[in-house]
Amino acid sequence: MSSVLFDIKKSFGCNVFVAGGGVAGIAAAISAARGGANVILADNNGYLGGSATAGMVGTFMTCMDTKGEKQIIKGFFEEFVLELLKENGAIYHTSCPGSDSYSGYRETGHIGVTPYDFEAFKRVAERMCLEAGVKLLYHATLVKADASDGRVRSAYLALKDGIYKIDADVFIDTTGDGALSYLAGAQTMYGDEDGTIQNPTLFCTISGVDKPMLDEYVRNSKNPRERFYMDLIEEGRERGEFPCGTYKLRFFEGLNGYWNVNMAQVDENIDVLDGEVITEAEISQRAQLVEIIKFLRKYIPSLRDIKMVSSAAALGIRESRRVVGNYILTVDDVSNSTDFPDKVVSCANSIDVHCKDRVNYQTRKSEKSYYIPLSCLIVKGFSNLLVAGRCLSADRFALAAVRVMPPCFAMGEAVGVTSALALGVGGDVNRVNVKDVQKILLENNGCLD
Ligand SMILES: Cc1cc2nc3c(=O)[nH]c(=O)nc-3n(C[C@H](O)[C@H](O)[C@H](O)COP(=O)(O)OP(=O)(O)OC[C@H]3O[C@@H](n4cnc5c(N)ncnc54)[C@H](O)[C@@H]3O)c2cc1C
Repeated sequence: MSSVLFDIKKSFGCNVFVAGGGVAGIAAAISAARGGANVILADNNGYLGGSATAGMVGTFMTCMDTKGEKQIIKGFFEEFVLELLKENGAIYHTSCPGSDSYSGYRETGHIGVTPYDFEAFKRVAERMCLEAGVKLLYHATLVKADASDGRVRSAYLALKDGIYKIDADVFIDTTGDGALSYLAGAQTMYGDEDGTIQNPTLFCTISGVDKPMLDEYVRNSKNPRERFYMDLIEEGRERGEFPCGTYKLRFFEGLNGYWNVNMAQVDENIDVLDGEVITEAEISQRAQLVEIIKFLRKYIPSLRDIKMVSSAAALGIRESRRVVGNYILTVDDVSNSTDFPDKVVSCANSIDVHCKDRVNYQTRKSEKSYYIPLSCLIVKGFSNLLVAGRCLSADRFALAAVRVMPPCFAMGEAVGVTSALALGVGGDVNRVNVKDVQKILLENNGCLD
């Protein structure tokens, strides 16, 4: 049976193979192709975006510095947002100054967020990939990788008609779960010492929010417990009416009158790499969403007419496997703004740890931006394997800061540029001069301040 499964149905060769078409993979594939590489991008969904679309997150967290004064994530991210705007598929970050409905009525870390439309995202991502010459493979699940002598040689994808084999000079892992690196034999990490990870959440969108009434209530609410209905939710949980540990009203206005609800939560620590566990979690989270909507309709006057429009196609995973790179970004690097000579991303998101009953914002010591070096995006022990996005080489709490979408876009852009440059040095990413990467990122409207 296994030999039938692994009969190769089709074979492809390319310069750069990108596994995973979330925001990091999209940026990586397009940047590699623009650098002259022949690129294949594969994803197991039938569209691009990963958590951004299948996970229904709905709002790019801020691209601004800590004070919300200067945009520090630009480059490909900015270009993508401008393309969305052409399709009325986003609200530009300068129109979202914080404390309003688009920022979930929060200010800290929420000044300058970018709400976007899921369908516009899918169309723009596809168009930009195709225009750059990226070959897309959908419904393509990476199931195996061959590696020898510190090089990945081939990746194997399961599609409807069988197994496709991809040979490439450089491989990029943007699967969020570090799947390619793991299958190639790279060292990986998962959670803390006892495997604890952040709680997953199934998003949903709702319609029917009475926005004027909600805005007015928020304007008149004196403290956060009141503004976010924290007492109401706590009491509801004690009565067994509110079904999970989420401690406050947490939703964001999106486009077209829809709001993105980030309130369901798997409270137990589950193994998000176990297929059976994930299936059970998605089923129970869908039921939990119904309970949450019922609760909000019953107790919050501005939400009494809300209706669920859609639950997300995939459980939102905040944290899973992280790949060990040449360097592991630490929470101290984030907290103290360690300035790396090989920095390729600058960002300022807070250290955002979601766990049962609360969101724990660890305070950073520095008000300055912090940086991700290229050495966190080169997989240790490999000369042709890069990683970007949620599965980068970082400790848990550093990941909690850089896991939001603008930095994931920026990491993807950095590895895409690096992969194309590597083609000129025998496909060896370790031989790429990081100054060349930085120069290209800055020429492409990037920012490393
Ligand atoms: C509940 C929740 C709320 C969040 N809120 C925000 C927010 O408000 N703003 C914000 O900016 N960020 C937010 N984030 C974080 C952010 O959405 C993600 O961390 C980010 O989108 C990750 O992007 P990525 O490209 O690294 O990975 P993903 O988006 O996970 O993309 C990986 C892609 O790879 C595919 N893939 C995985 N394995 C395979 C395989 N074996 N074969 C083929 N394809 C594969 C997946 O299907 C997916 O399409 C939130 C995350 C969660 C879970």
